[in-house]
Amino acid sequence: MFKSDTICAIATGLGKSAIGMIRVSGPDAINICDGIFEGKKKLTDMDSFTAAFGRIVDRNPANGECDILDEAIVLVMKAPHTYTTENTVEIDLHGGTLVIRKVLELLVKSGVRVAEPGEFTKRAFLGGRIDMTEAEAVMDVINAETDRALKTSVNQLTGKLREEIAAIREKILYHTAYIESALDDPENYSLDGFGEKLSDEINDILSRIDRLVSTADEGRLIREGIRTAIVGRPNVGKSSILNLLLGEDRAIVTDIEGTTRDTLEEYVNVDGILLKLIDTAGIRDTADVVERIGVDKARSSMEDADLVMLILDGSHEPTESDMQLLDEVSGRNAIYIINKTDKDIVFTGEMLRSLLKNKNPEIDNFRIVELSAKTSAGLENLRDMISDMFFHEELDYNDQLYITKARHKSSLIEAEKSLKRVIESIEEGLGEDFYTIDLMAAYESLGEIIGETLEDDLADKIFSEFCMGK
Ligand code: GDP
Repeated sequence: MFKSDTICAIATGLGKSAIGMIRVSGPDAINICDGIFEGKKKLTDMDSFTAAFGRIVDRNPANGECDILDEAIVLVMKAPHTYTTENTVEIDLHGGTLVIRKVLELLVKSGVRVAEPGEFTKRAFLGGRIDMTEAEAVMDVINAETDRALKTSVNQLTGKLREEIAAIREKILYHTAYIESALDDPENYSLDGFGEKLSDEINDILSRIDRLVSTADEGRLIREGIRTAIVGRPNVGKSSILNLLLGEDRAIVTDIEGTTRDTLEEYVNVDGILLKLIDTAGIRDTADVVERIGVDKARSSMEDADLVMLILDGSHEPTESDMQLLDEVSGRNAIYIINKTDKDIVFTGEMLRSLLKNKNPEIDNFRIVELSAKTSAGLENLRDMISDMFFHEELDYNDQLYITKARHKSSLIEAEKSLKRVIESIEEGLGEDFYTIDLMAAYESLGEIIGETLEDDLADKIFSEFCMGK
């Protein structure tokens, strides 16, 4: 399973920069790099974690002539104490795209293979230096767009999730081993009253797993952003509010690359909360979405939204379209925005509240904000509302462990199911050997999270979503 060829990749961003770095990893990394390096010392004679200054040269074996490609600082790191656990060489070049490409070509000519995305981290995983949760966190750290997302991924990177999963698995393994021993050697291991004790232990474990599962929704929102649909009829101020949220200094709009997503997506960072905007193209169309394609369009963009922001123009009485949209939004996680409060207001937040209450008598906590996209009055309230709606913790949650991946959540739920079956078997008075089957199933499900019992092709898929050179 463990590939032992030598791989290379450009590790820095493409485009002109002060430095461009190529990383080489594998058993022959130091030897091969020595073949293209000319300095005071041979790379093969250097100690681990030392650097040398020299030139990268393309030697012609026929006549011994050298073509100098660039000056370089070369860092030599020896197995096993490296990122990949293999011999690793990092070559710092001047950051021109042509130079970097030429050196990469030279390496390939010398027998090095260009790495697949995520292959360095995959080697760290296969070499046993990190588990799957830490490998996944590497990518999340790179992709993090908010402080909250970064802290959560760094927590995972330092092994907090692995530790918790490993501790739970160890308990399960202990009980399984005890049962096996007792069945083998009943004279020395007693199973009297064991069922009851095991039930208690499993309930403990279940509550630990539950605690993790309960963080999954917040975890996903932190990592992926809150899927947000901004809806409203033409001219109510959708794009103005979008621009207000985007702001100048605190806001960002980016395309997050390196994942399976192939469409460009827009994100807004609102004070550390990431909103993933749905269908902003529709908002920016000059022709109106609602009027042109009808409420259907608004409905579909709301479909898998975590948050709907319905915008109404407070300087006008609500129209037929507004009423239709209010019906569509009802029952969803929504914030209602009465915009244009800098003008003479004929439709207020209070009026909207009683209108909504008439429509939905059973609900009484509608989230309504009065806002002026023009003067930005009310913006703070809107931000606070979003934050309160989705996050219970303040930004200081250093020790809070979040489940940020659907993959982790479903394995936890599988483990819970198996453990609940053990409790059922105990209650039904089934034999102890029944318990071990389900205990081991739970052990396996939890093992998938850290990568111990993960199918190869699933592991490959996870790494393939990494960026090049990582
Ligand atoms: P959209 O069609 O819903 O995206 O609406 P726009 O954002 O394009 O706004 C429509 C018009 O309303 C523009 O002329 C905006 O300048 C104006 N507008 C938007 N928000 C406000 C506001 O809060 N106050 C005032 N006075 N005008 C606004």
